[in-house]
Amino acid sequence: MQNYTDGYTRTCGLIGNPVKHTLSPLIHNALAEMAGVNLVYVPFEVEHAAVQDAVKGARALDILGLNVTIPHKSAVIPFLDDIDPLAKGIGAVNTLVRTPEGGFKGYNTDMTGLYRAIREEGVDFAGEAVVILGAGGVARPAAFLSASKGARKVYVLNRTFEKAEAVADEVNKAVYDMGREDKCTEDGLSAAGEAADYDKIIVPMKLEDYKKLYELEDRFIVLQCTSVGLFPDVNSTVIEDEEFYTHIIAAMDMIYRPLETKFLKMAGAAGAKTVSGLKMLLYQGVDAFELWNSDLDVKISKEQADEVYKSLVMEVTGATNIILEGFMGCGKTTVSEILADKLEIELIDTDEVIVDTEKRSVNEIFANEGEQYFRDLETELLRTIVEDHWRETVISLGGGLPLREENRELLRRAGKVVYLRTSPETVFARIKDDTTRPLLQTGDPLVRIKELQDERREIYEQAADIIIDTDDLTPEEIACEIVRQLGL
Ligand code: NAP
Repeated sequence: MQNYTDGYTRTCGLIGNPVKHTLSPLIHNALAEMAGVNLVYVPFEVEHAAVQDAVKGARALDILGLNVTIPHKSAVIPFLDDIDPLAKGIGAVNTLVRTPEGGFKGYNTDMTGLYRAIREEGVDFAGEAVVILGAGGVARPAAFLSASKGARKVYVLNRTFEKAEAVADEVNKAVYDMGREDKCTEDGLSAAGEAADYDKIIVPMKLEDYKKLYELEDRFIVLQCTSVGLFPDVNSTVIEDEEFYTHIIAAMDMIYRPLETKFLKMAGAAGAKTVSGLKMLLYQGVDAFELWNSDLDVKISKEQADEVYKSLVMEVTGATNIILEGFMGCGKTTVSEILADKLEIELIDTDEVIVDTEKRSVNEIFANEGEQYFRDLETELLRTIVEDHWRETVISLGGGLPLREENRELLRRAGKVVYLRTSPETVFARIKDDTTRPLLQTGDPLVRIKELQDERREIYEQAADIIIDTDDLTPEEIACEIVRQLGL
């Protein structure tokens, strides 16, 4: 089904500016393949002045659905035929769905996605106190969502207090209006706006006054909506005080680069449930996909969503492929098999690919064509992996492959390189009975192993993103450690 289009293909896309680095095509094209829907998803860069034309054009071209991203999430609203109450209260849409009349209805799946992500961890806002850190573009809808899903109180803490006040005023009013216009029970929204004291649901606070929270609430859910901790500023969090984290039931960071922010690390260490912003990104996509394909009754299962999440994690962490390097006897072959099995992804061994293509053994290639020829084949294979955008493959490297500088450069672009570091004594113990290794046909194999390792160690280390000392680990433990270190 992938990449197949015909006269029945459903077209969806994204309008925004910029859109070059969007992860949405990965989400939707994967979902289409999994759900067996003939659908393609394409990003369109749209200037601010052209938003109305883009919506009109999408209508004329019978585009099934659109996502809308920065900076058009509010600007697009006047050009819609209808708007979902949650999106209306938030004042921003990120998903356009065809109406039966041929126009578009706007939804905010950023927020339903956030909610679905947090619900999946068994956490709900109903009856809880929610603390929002920040008062920017994401904090406002997060405050509205929390209130509309029945939070008892929502505290908006911001460095610039006036902005927290403005968010509280706007959201309190929007919640009240929503409750007045429509009790919202149809959409599963609680009628938070019904509360007579609606104006007290959202409470603005100065960020520096966070300790005052403890007098008001013992335990709370925290939604981290500031930009503090975003890559490359990965060693910062907006509140550094460990005590704060001991009050947290569940913590969600809107940031997903890095996947585990310092905020999430500290919350996790204090025993809170943690949810990465990447889950919000995943579920805003899943919710949009289900809305677009509701006529086909498409429902994405947790297992399918997990599958897409794994691809997103690999993409975000740069581990588009997981590449294993190391000296002979380091366990590369066994570990790569376990890893591919565990992650349910493809596995290739560069030596095996070359042997299959050349239809002769490595020894024969070396003997007949020389080492240079073999190394050229390795470089060519790596270039194909990079240029053809190979994804989600465990790649076990021939021992000498990283020796070429050009290859190390290609490896950096191909994925995350894991060096399985093993001491000469362990290598010797593991391969001493193997009579097929030419290396061992010397007077003192251990000395030869040491010499070769000395030549290669620094190069392997240079090429590696992750180094694992394997001497005291089983192959299963090594595979688990790789998964852990990659955050998969
Ligand atoms: P924004 O409108 O620029 O707001 C930034 C917020 O961070 C403001 O409240 C600002 O406080 C606060 N802040 C910045 N630096 C600070 C510092 N040093 N100390 C304390 N507070 C600080 O940004 P946004 O659009 O709301 O986005 C917030 C984050 O969410 C971004 O990192 C973005 O990457 C992420 N995001 C994630 C998703 C997703 O799908 N997961 C979607 C959208 C955005 P002041 O008001 O005092 O300046």
